[in-house]
Amino acid sequence: MRFETIAIHGGNFVSDSEKPVIQPITLSTTFIHQENSMIYSRANNPNRASLEKLLASLERGEDAAAFSSGNAAGIAVFQALKPGSHIIAPDDMYHGLKKGILTLFDGVLEASFVDMTDLEKVQEAFQENTKLVWVETPSNPLLKISDLEAISKLAKSKGAILACDNTFATPVFQNPLLLGADLVMHSSTKYFGGHSDILGGALVTKEKNEFWDKIKNVQTTGGAVPSPMDCYYLCRSIKTLPYRMKGHAEHAMVLANYLSQHPNIEKVYYPGLKNHPGHDIAARQMTGFGGILSFQVKGDATTADMLISKLKYYTNATSLGGVESLIERRAASEGPDTKTPQNLIRLSVGLEHLDDLLEDLDEALK
Ligand SMILES: *Cc1c(COP(=O)(O)O)cnc(C)c1O
Repeated sequence: MRFETIAIHGGNFVSDSEKPVIQPITLSTTFIHQENSMIYSRANNPNRASLEKLLASLERGEDAAAFSSGNAAGIAVFQALKPGSHIIAPDDMYHGLKKGILTLFDGVLEASFVDMTDLEKVQEAFQENTKLVWVETPSNPLLKISDLEAISKLAKSKGAILACDNTFATPVFQNPLLLGADLVMHSSTKYFGGHSDILGGALVTKEKNEFWDKIKNVQTTGGAVPSPMDCYYLCRSIKTLPYRMKGHAEHAMVLANYLSQHPNIEKVYYPGLKNHPGHDIAARQMTGFGGILSFQVKGDATTADMLISKLKYYTNATSLGGVESLIERRAASEGPDTKTPQNLIRLSVGLEHLDDLLEDLDEALK
């Protein structure tokens, strides 16, 4: 099956004798004992099984594990490591997961945060106990691009697992497992859900192995699993993912070009722009540049806040990946120890009419 077909048919498994076209939501927490049946919903559930099958197919992996949030998925990978292990992670990384490494695994795991766009720095960061290389590409919020093939070669030569946070690209635009990664992580809260109304996360593995068994144990014994309702709604949302992503990326490219030519804008970060330092790698490893862009206004935090307050169609809120455009001054969300520039605005470009989005920005920038 091709991608769009998988998105529609790959997560719909009907065993009901009434033969509904769409898989019903199985709310039961427990199942009648019989051979090969599911037992208990924390361990497995028909809607979660469908979602996991769908996610594994979309990411071209062997198996997937769904979680109650993106953070729960990421943390499960760190929990599966042996105490004393060392992680190489990006300097520009989703701040919630960085916080997880620093606060929940303080004294348990070691971590080096490096510029993943600099392969020499990545190579130098390896230690004898390095077990995991964590990549996020494009990264949040600076849209840095990491070379997945090159980093996977480095990780392999050192016997480390390579995991990639693929939330921004989605499998529509990037399949890290085909570029050498061992694991893919998603916040399904973002594009998979696509309507800012589901919290969820997922991991997909290239192959079932000992490390994957540990992760599955964190999922089912740790118990940070999504509800059958959430799994149902995710399968429903993913049916339109390929078409939504095309729209998001098309709009983002136009807005990025518009902003880069505007006299009141200092800098635009979007991998689709030719002057983006990661453009060539992105063009090679992605089939589209995604729907998120960041930009710095000429001025300070107050200038940026003022611009945001003038917009009509862009909602000032955190998160991303919904059909509605969201905008925020990122440093304000990341807190006092952030390295993100104070005048940097992150924009999750939605699916409103492009002319409305352009006119609104143009008006506010005057
Ligand atoms: C939102 C996000 C996460 C965390 O996901 P939650 O669903 O909020 O727990 C991780 N990585 C990236 C890139 C994100 O955007």
